[in-house]
Amino acid sequence: MAKSDKEPGAAGPPVIRKAKPPQTRTGLVRQARKINRALAEVYPYAHPELDFENPFELLVATVLSAQTTDLRVNQTTPALFAKYPTPEDLAAANPEEVEELIRPTGFFRAKTKSIMGLARALRDEHGGEVPGRLEDLVKLPGVGRKTANVVLGNAFGVPGITVDTHFGRLVRRWKWTDEEDPEKVEALICDIFPKSDWTMLSHRIIFHGRRICHARKPACGACPIAALCPSYGEGEIDPEKAKKLLKYEKGGFPGQRLKPPPDYPGMAAPPMGAV
Ligand code: SF4
Repeated sequence: MAKSDKEPGAAGPPVIRKAKPPQTRTGLVRQARKINRALAEVYPYAHPELDFENPFELLVATVLSAQTTDLRVNQTTPALFAKYPTPEDLAAANPEEVEELIRPTGFFRAKTKSIMGLARALRDEHGGEVPGRLEDLVKLPGVGRKTANVVLGNAFGVPGITVDTHFGRLVRRWKWTDEEDPEKVEALICDIFPKSDWTMLSHRIIFHGRRICHARKPACGACPIAALCPSYGEGEIDPEKAKKLLKYEKGGFPGQRLKPPPDYPGMAAPPMGAV
């Protein structure tokens, strides 16, 4: 178990010692749950960062979020949903008009095809409603397990683990698994945590990956869970330099949402800029 303490007589920031990777299954479960509890304290306001008012909006916004930021999607979707509020409306849209509306999210031609295909499938096969079951969601065009779990967890309250790029990278850094295949990662992590933790665990890990434990330069020296991490030192450990790598909240309050619902945990969060 890692320690974070000051060396006797030493000035300056605490000395962090890298945590040992868990050696046993029990050790792994204990370490993983400890990290989850620590992240819950750091990000009490973790939440999905896409704005949505119903499952259809979340589904479309999630598809649009590929290769761009949630903030960019949140700036784009109000005009899209104002013009096409239902799957029927979007299915019958002029594709060129949809392309223009979603252009800022990048890959707008492919994304137009995806969301219009989705809208048609919802209209023709599901009576214009987003289905609330994983097996139905993953049959929709362009919807994989990751998107399906985002929609289930956040629009239907069905617990799900969302293995996106941040989630996969961080659980490998913490040595919970060395698996690269998102489906296998999902199954392994589901085994470590009770179902009731799945959705919030996903949000916390994604928050941490976006803000501190970046892909190329993790800000280890400014990481609040450094003492628990077997990969401490993979990134910048100098606290001052690490602080400069932090990506703070950029858009809404306190994440990237521009229209958080009033009962959202984020509404009781520290002001923007605080992690
Ligand atoms: S930022 Fe560094 S110390 Fe923190 S979780 Fe990532 S690798 Fe570990």
